[in-house]
Amino acid sequence: MRLSRAFMPTLKESPADAQVVSHVYLVRGGFIRRLAAGIYNFLPLGWRVVRKIEDIVRDELDRAGAQEVLMPAAVPAELWQESGRWDKYGPELLRFKDRKGADFCIGPTHEEVIVEMVRRDTSSYRDLPLNLYQIQSKFRDEMRPRAGLMRGREFIMKDAYSFDVSEETATTAYWTMYRAYERIFRRCGLDFRAVEADTGAIGGSRSHEFQVLADSGEDAIVACDHCDYAANVEQAEVAAPTAPGIAPGADGHAAATTRATVATPGQKTIEEVSAFLKVPATQLIKTLIYIADDQPVAALVRGDRGLNEIALKKAIGASALYLARDSEVVAATGVAPGFVGPVGLTIPVYADHELRGATAAVTGAGAADAHHVGVDLARDVTVTAFAPLRLAGPGDRCPRCAEGHFRGFKGIEVGHVFFLGTKYSAPMACTFIDEQGASHPMVMGCYGIGITRVAAAAIEQNHDGNGICWPMSIAPYQVEVIALQAGDAAVVAAATALYEGLTARGVEVLFDDRDERPGGKFKDADLIGVPLRIAVGARSLKDGKLELKWRRDDKPTLIDVDGAVAHVAELVAAEQQRLRALADAPSAAPGGAA
Ligand code: ATP
Ligand code: MG
Repeated sequence: MRLSRAFMPTLKESPADAQVVSHVYLVRGGFIRRLAAGIYNFLPLGWRVVRKIEDIVRDELDRAGAQEVLMPAAVPAELWQESGRWDKYGPELLRFKDRKGADFCIGPTHEEVIVEMVRRDTSSYRDLPLNLYQIQSKFRDEMRPRAGLMRGREFIMKDAYSFDVSEETATTAYWTMYRAYERIFRRCGLDFRAVEADTGAIGGSRSHEFQVLADSGEDAIVACDHCDYAANVEQAEVAAPTAPGIAPGADGHAAATTRATVATPGQKTIEEVSAFLKVPATQLIKTLIYIADDQPVAALVRGDRGLNEIALKKAIGASALYLARDSEVVAATGVAPGFVGPVGLTIPVYADHELRGATAAVTGAGAADAHHVGVDLARDVTVTAFAPLRLAGPGDRCPRCAEGHFRGFKGIEVGHVFFLGTKYSAPMACTFIDEQGASHPMVMGCYGIGITRVAAAAIEQNHDGNGICWPMSIAPYQVEVIALQAGDAAVVAAATALYEGLTARGVEVLFDDRDERPGGKFKDADLIGVPLRIAVGARSLKDGKLELKWRRDDKPTLIDVDGAVAHVAELVAAEQQRLRALADAPSAAPGGAA
């Protein structure tokens, strides 16, 4: 592509709302343009990147035995009513009516539609297993669309669904997809971890998120420094405590052991109370009020800990849970949040297992502007149940191997594999007849990849202060040829020959033939991030040389004009081969090999 003819508008200014690097460079580099909040146009460069990622995804899914289909974006409400999600999904689901008044939604995910597709034409065990995927725009009316392609409202997803006759074969399908995902993200040149994730109401351990490690990630991950265990903190197990987490003298602090009420005017947060009473946060008990299936409950964790809502939900056996609003806290406890304490509560009290045997603790007093000191949980509080309720964090002992400790990471979720079981096939009667003639619901799995989010995540991991450093496998072009002096006939001739020679060999070349100053061309090249750059300049050309520079390197090297086409084409082929070969590294899935 000649840049002089291309629609590749680069910008000097960053978008005002940009918080992350990928957003800045995607807009400045002319990859995307915002149409509305969380909704983007893909310009030629951006669309090339999307297609590169899609090609890798297609290649690996076809290799894994899946077949591509395409489902409609507009989905009739009846299907969602059948699965029960029409009422449950909430405001992220964009609903509308057609001219006859029939309800529809724009699909945010397509379990219902694929189940309808499969149940119509599949009835025998002989037709299974099946694995179908599509690559399509999804719409989710996210509360806070942000960060460009990272969290959009309309975004491109690959979603796949497997259908099997038994748990056992469905489990095989699950791990086949897990391995395909490893291969896909490796080929995209990403540094990622597959982490155990929440399975929600379905239970079981078969849900993994593929997280690209990046400081700008929204997800907190812990990974053991000794064994393979890695999990989203929402899901991470916490090792059973070996001693009470609160005791007099813990943290070297001499605390009151007899219960007393002390005045704490206006001191509500853990930090405020800790500073005011001069006790460490580890001596405090945080009392949080939740509404679980419409009933108030109290949850207790140590002052320095976070509460794991998924764990609390499990401990209660609730199907819905949210942090109580201020008015609900007052209704349940008689006091405003900040001074709520566990002593004398009449609602169920769930305590983190680390609080078993806690003494000398500081808690809210259940009255305004006061706290209790010297609380002994066994003596003073009616605990309904102890359970692991706190969030895992860096430094925790690993619950799996008991030898290592957790390290903390930030991650961007680029993919998700999920064992569904019969969650959709049972209510929607997606059944098959077995060899004996009996009917069963099919056993399903679902598997998503955020195609457009992969592009953003790749930039978060591959950039410098001047722009993007694309891995070659997903770069919009493989090579950029720059004619440094567009008015110099010899330069133009040599650059054109290189551009045409490489293109003829199948190399994807962006040719900066614009009549602009070299400085501006180099700046744009760095911003756009094509991995290999060849600058053709009058001075080195006189000596029969061209300047070759990898985007990631600081300095160029000189190569001969003679044979340059073959040489550059070989470098491209070798880099593509290197990235492709990464896919064959051993798999972390049971059964090993890729
Ligand atoms: P998140 O927790 O980030 O909202 P999710 O759990 O809702 O993600 P899934 O329903 O599993 O996501 O969707 C599959 C994949 O689609 C995700 O792994 C992610 O890569 C991508 N994805 C989800 N929501 C968005 C979005 N708003 N913008 C871009 N990509 C998204
Ligand atoms: Mg989401």
